[in-house]
Amino acid sequence: MIFEVTGEEAIKPRVWETAVAEVIPRTKDVKSFRFPKPEGFQHKAGQWMYINIKIEGTQKLHHFTISSSPTENYLEFTKKITDSQYSQALDKMKPGDWAKINAPFGEFTYSGEKIKIGALTGGIGITPLHSICRYCVDEKLPTSIVMLYSNKTEDEIVFKDELEEMHKADPNIVVKNVLTRQPDWKGLKGHVNTDMIKEQIPDYRERVFYICGPPSLNEAMKKALEGLNLREDQIKLEDFTGYQ
Ligand SMILES: Cc1cc2nc3c(=O)[nH]c(=O)nc-3n(C[C@H](O)[C@H](O)[C@H](O)COP(=O)(O)OP(=O)(O)OC[C@H]3O[C@@H](n4cnc5c(N)ncnc54)[C@H](O)[C@@H]3O)c2cc1C
Repeated sequence: MIFEVTGEEAIKPRVWETAVAEVIPRTKDVKSFRFPKPEGFQHKAGQWMYINIKIEGTQKLHHFTISSSPTENYLEFTKKITDSQYSQALDKMKPGDWAKINAPFGEFTYSGEKIKIGALTGGIGITPLHSICRYCVDEKLPTSIVMLYSNKTEDEIVFKDELEEMHKADPNIVVKNVLTRQPDWKGLKGHVNTDMIKEQIPDYRERVFYICGPPSLNEAMKKALEGLNLREDQIKLEDFTGYQ
């Protein structure tokens, strides 16, 4: 007899070899890489995976959030391409190229808990929140998410169209783009701070805040929340170590 394993039991990390299925440019220096999802693989929205690629014959590994949602039939990660050797090798990858994946890992997740979410992120830190928003839309969850998403300029906003489309499909998902270096921007401008959070998320006391990005951005976001007297369990944090 074959028992189907579902729920928490099924979410165990495993390692497998695979090949790139699709590469999708997102902004001038951000790309998504998609892989087939193996039979029976399960993960939670917001989890991450180890990606091994071969650079001059040697395997090199970094970790990346699964930017796709558990509701989708592929696994995707989305990387900011820098000058590093790993980034440059990744930038050249095309469908059919070898990779090894070890996944899923991480606690920065959302699986339909009865909470309201406040999200604070910037740049590439959007990846787990993209997965979480997509999951809520696809599963038709009643979850309210209000996100302040910081970038320098409009053309650096990763998943801009996708996030707008999600808001149209589910008005409970609200993404407010905050730009620091675009004087003609009609939306929110400057750095996310305590006053901006109070103004833009007036019911902040009722929310659990998901903060994600490079450590320096996360420090600034944590500082902005300090003035709001939130409980410790109202803040969830994911540090993208490896960036400044
Ligand atoms: C949980 C998690 C999720 C992440 N998700 C994403 C994502 O969705 N998209 C994305 O672009 N990036 C993500 N990152 C960051 C990613 O793993 C790389 O660190 C980052 O992309 C920098 O790589 P690089 O090629 O630009 O530079 P590299 O030169 O390869 O790395 C920069 C420096 O950081 C060191 N380093 C690299 N990776 C790590 C690490 N993970 N921890 C500590 N030191 C490290 C290197 O040795 C080097 O000195 C995530 C990191 C974590 C921890």
